[in-house]
Order: sequence, then structure tokens, then C-alpha cells
Amino acid sequence: MSDKSSIEWTDATWNPVRGCTKISPGCKHCYAETFAERFRGVPGHPYEQGFDLRLIPGKLAEPLKWGAPKTIFVNSMSDLFHEDVPDWYVERVARVMEMANWHTYQVLTKRASRLRELLATKLSFASMLDHIWWGTSVEDKKYGVPRIEELRNAPAAVRFLSIEPLLEDLGEVDLSGIDWVIVGGESGAGSRKMEESWVLNLREQCMKADVPFFFKQWGGVQKSKFGRLLDNQTYDEMPRRVQNPIPLKADRLAMLDIVDSWQNTPTTEPVIV
Ligand code: SF4
Repeated sequence: MSDKSSIEWTDATWNPVRGCTKISPGCKHCYAETFAERFRGVPGHPYEQGFDLRLIPGKLAEPLKWGAPKTIFVNSMSDLFHEDVPDWYVERVARVMEMANWHTYQVLTKRASRLRELLATKLSFASMLDHIWWGTSVEDKKYGVPRIEELRNAPAAVRFLSIEPLLEDLGEVDLSGIDWVIVGGESGAGSRKMEESWVLNLREQCMKADVPFFFKQWGGVQKSKFGRLLDNQTYDEMPRRVQNPIPLKADRLAMLDIVDSWQNTPTTEPVIV
């Protein structure tokens, strides 16, 4: 876990999985891949294996060790609902979020159909907890917009969209059942340009539907050059965060013991290392 994040809409990141594979055009310039591959082959580095997908069970307990409440982006360097992350492991991640409920979690995926399936079944214990926000990425009409329907059909207390990188005008979007929208352009080398009219269209629809709107950035090769002002103002709206009480240290240690005991719990599925 990193207790600080440069991502505008979160405080911290927690990566109990590392690595991923590309699934749609929004992945083309995946920042996580670029970062991870930089360290491939560096002995002892967390990304020694580059962007190859692997489970990191030693990271599962980290939110329990973090006493001060944080807003945590889960798996900023992966996709929790990737097909190679077994159900039992996704369930363990959710069990930690259920226990460490003094934090707010933002779980973002491009695998929205698996998110929907699991929230209705093995993750049903976590689906309606209002300190866990479940979201999907949307970049275009072909791949991104259908994920909104999957998310809407998932049982969830809080649902959000990360519309980034926005690659085209999405037209009319059904925002019913959606609690938060983030919009942003792509940044870095080779970044694809985002038109202002595409963003204004989404802002107007959010305002009409009374959905909090967060404008993250214009992007570009040097994103600091273009900033994050839209119509001369910033948009930093977010859903209301619940603040559950922080348990006593003894109770937190008992929770850590539970997570530690998982290391010895056999699973029916192979562990990816
Ligand atoms: S799903 Fe996310 S983490 Fe995975 S390759 Fe695509 S952009 Fe990167």
C-alpha cells in the first residue's frame, strides 16, 4: 500500500494483486503497465516480474495496519476482477474491506460482468456496505458504455464510473443508479486528445441527473500544462463518505490474526505467484 497517491480522487493505493492484461482501447497506454515494465528484471523490486499478473497475499492485511481513515483505490496496478484472479482471492480482498471499515474503498474494474456476477453471489456480504464503492471504467461507446449496464445491474450500495481516458463523445448516457462520475483525458507519450464538448456533455448530464461530477484532468503529453479547469473552475464532487468508528487496537490485532491465518488455509484453486 502507498499511504499517498498522486491520483486526484483518492488518498492512497492498495495492491493485493499486481499486473494485468489489456482488454479494450482504454488500456492502450496503461500507466500501470508502463510503470511496472520499467522494473522488470530488477532483483528484489516489487515489479521484478514487470506487469505479469500475480497475487500478493502478503499485502492483504495492509488496510488493517493503517489506523487513520483513508480513501483507498484498490488495485491501482491491476484489475481485481481479471479472469486470472481466483474467486477465493477476490473474496479475501473483500473480507479485508469488510473488516477494515473505517476506510473508504474505491474498486475500479474493466471486467464489469464479473464484478456483477460476484457481487450477486460470493461477494454479496460486501455489496451493500456503503464504505465500499464499486466502479467501472468507460472510454468509448463500443467497450465502455456496455459496462455501465453491467454495473447498474450489480447489487451495490455505491456505484461509480471512471470515464478516463475519454476517447470519444459518449452521447446520451443512462446515469440511473450511478452515484459518481469521474472524467479525464489521457496523459503521457502518445496520448489521445479529448475534446471539450465531450466533457461538457457529460457534465450537463451529471448535473441533470444530480450525480456528483469530478473532472480529473485534460491530460496531454505534459498534463500539468493543461491542468484540470473546466469552464474556469475545478469539479471535485464526490459521494458522501461514511465514517465508521475505528476499532480498538486489540480488535484490530484480532482482525490481523484472521488474515494471517489465511496463509495456512488451503484453497481449492492454484495460487498464482
Ligand atoms: S484493465 Fe486497467 S490495469 Fe489492466 S491493462 Fe487495462 S488499463 Fe491497465
